[in-house]
Parts: sequence; C-alpha cells; structure tokens
Amino acid sequence: MRGMAEMNGTSGSDLALSIYNRNVNFPWGNDIIIYDSTLRDGEQMPGVAFSPEQKLDIAMLLDEIGIKEIEAGFPAISDRELKTVKLIANQGLNARILALSRLRKDDIDSAIKADVDVILLFIASSPLHLRYKLDMRVEEIDGRIIDAIDYVKEHGITPSFSTEDSTRTPIQVLKRFVRIAEDSGAKRIGFTDTLGCATPEAIEYLFSEMYKYTSLPISAHLHNDFGLSLANALTALKSGARYVCATVHGWGERAGNVPLEQLVMALQYLYGIDLGIDTTRLKELSEMVSRYAGIDVPLSQPFVGENAFAHESGIHVAAVIRNPRTYEPIDPRIVGNKRRIVLGKHSGRRIIELKLKELGIEMDEDEIRDLVRRVKIEGERKGMLSDDELIKMAMEVRKSYGEGV
Ligand code: MN
Repeated sequence: MRGMAEMNGTSGSDLALSIYNRNVNFPWGNDIIIYDSTLRDGEQMPGVAFSPEQKLDIAMLLDEIGIKEIEAGFPAISDRELKTVKLIANQGLNARILALSRLRKDDIDSAIKADVDVILLFIASSPLHLRYKLDMRVEEIDGRIIDAIDYVKEHGITPSFSTEDSTRTPIQVLKRFVRIAEDSGAKRIGFTDTLGCATPEAIEYLFSEMYKYTSLPISAHLHNDFGLSLANALTALKSGARYVCATVHGWGERAGNVPLEQLVMALQYLYGIDLGIDTTRLKELSEMVSRYAGIDVPLSQPFVGENAFAHESGIHVAAVIRNPRTYEPIDPRIVGNKRRIVLGKHSGRRIIELKLKELGIEMDEDEIRDLVRRVKIEGERKGMLSDDELIKMAMEVRKSYGEGV
C-alpha cells in the first residue's frame, strides 16, 4: 500500500482554487450560523425514518464537528418525536436545539415539553398556500403571530418567526408579518424558498430588502427544486442573512435542501469564512447519515461521494501522481475522503504498473503488455475494474504465459 500512501501525500499546497475567486463581503462574516435540519427536513425525505438512537448519534456528531444549531425535529407530530427531540435537547450539547412549530398552542406545547432552545414558528404566507392550504385571509393571521410569540416568550424560550413559501409571497405581506413579529418580540425572522423556485437574483432582492427592513437577524430555509439551493444560500448570506438551513447531502423533501458539506466547504474554503467547523469528519457524517437513512450517497456527490476524488483516465492519473492539485482542487483529507485510482478503459500502462506494485504483483514486460490490453478490453465492457478483478486478471495472464503457449 505504500504507493497509494505516497500518492495521498501532496506536493505543495492542500488547495488549488480558482485564481479568479475574489473576496466577497458577507455582512455577518464569521458569525454566520448554519443550522442543520437533517433530523427534521432531512427526515422528511421519502422513505427515511431515523430511530431515536440514530437521531441522537447524528446530533452528537453534528455537535462534535462544530455545527452550532440543530433543528432536531417537529415535536408535534408524535409522542415519540417529542421524546426524541427532548432526549437530544437534554444531552448538554454545545449546539442550540431548535424545533419547528405551527402557530398553534398544542404545537408550541410539544416544543416546550421537548426543552428546546429556539422554537421556529412558521405560517404559510403565499396566496396559493393561504387559499388552498390554510383557507385564511392575510388579516386573520396577524393575531395568531402575536399570540404564538407571546406564548413562546412566556415560557422563556427564544421565538423565531418564519413565513413559509416566502418567495411566492408579495413583499408587502412579508413586511406586514415581519413588523408584527418584531413588535411582538420575535428574536429572528426567517424567509423560505419552500418550492426551490427562486433565482439567486430573487433571493438577493428579497434578503437585501428584509435586511434593510428589520433589525432582527434573518434566517434562510431553501429548497433545491431547480438545483439552485447552494447558490441561493450563498446569495442569501451575501444579502444579509445570518442563519442558513442545510442538511447532510442536501437530503430533504422532494429535491432536498442546501447540502451541508458543500455549504461548509464553499464558505470556509472558497470564501475564507471561519465557521469553526471540522471538515475532516464530513465524510464520516455522510456515511452515518447514509447508513441510518438506508440510502446510498450518489457516487459523484461533491466532497463525500466515492468518485469525488477518483481518477481513471491515464492522462489525469499521470498528472495526479506528479501533483494531486492538477485534478483535485483540495486535498481529499480535508473532508475525510480518499483519492481513488480506478482502472478502466482510460487507464494507461503507468497506472497499471503502479497498481501491480501496490498489490505486490511482479510481472515481466510481455505480461504487463498483455495485462494492459486486457484491462482496456474489460474496461470497455464493464466500465471499471476493482482491485480484485485486476488481481484475477493478472493471475490469468501469468498462467497463460506460465503454461508456455
Ligand atoms: Mn423545508
């Protein structure tokens, strides 16, 4: 294995990012806070249900890597959910524990019983949701916001108020609710792109307007229906948001949310913001969530996927051996991942020789030439070859020569 270990060492820097990256002003800078919602929105991914023990494991790992806020669940949905959130809230984690709640006394009571630090009150605000979900008029909501915030405050818990479907809500309605919530004593205000249908420019407009309008810190909850959640999260932060929601792998309802690991890496490495998050355990976090969710991580998932640092093409591999930064913007160890050299139809002789050395197989010139030929044929047929398949193939080559054809 020495060959691979040597290759995992880097010559020079651990980073080789675009030379056109520029310093960008994030109003909250290092005080940006990512709140992880893997245990709430993540669990709303179809087919996913974590056990209480699994939720606790995930919360503890999130806390260990330095995530400052964890949305642990929606206590009102069941007694078991309430108990699980309470279990997490009473672990003495450094992270603040958040829970979602509608503007209903029974929902809020569940969150209070769960001992959370912050209650994320929300109500739909868009015309579509008001009409087809709540069957309410805008004016009917005002009083409910006041009552809910009062009730949360009475119990000494921090109230946050969010509008659901904010990006499809007229700005006057958002401002109306924000004014009421702020006057009632909300401690933060959230806006949501619930349907993931806003452009980064729309997010820039909305969050900039609200940053000017309210003195409260703003949070963003964004979805990925158009694949723009990460861009929108960065835009929301640039436009004044302090809190931003993310989930491991971006897993969540429909096309999911903002991918936590990508957001952390973009902020810490592309924009140089110090969030104090230990990125070297992101792969471990990814594996835990995947195992507990029973869902495989897509191979090409940035940073944590099996292919995120895999190379097959002979030209790439040859360059990576000389300097890994030729085809890797960061050292894979930064995210706890590993470089993988994959054999396939693009593999050249040099990498096959290296693999043989690593596997402790000695072959002469003729044998290697034959093996390279076979690797290319098999690679075309199968796409890629595992180490075991290479060993088997090498044995076949040797046998055919040994038998002295
Ligand atoms: Mn959501």
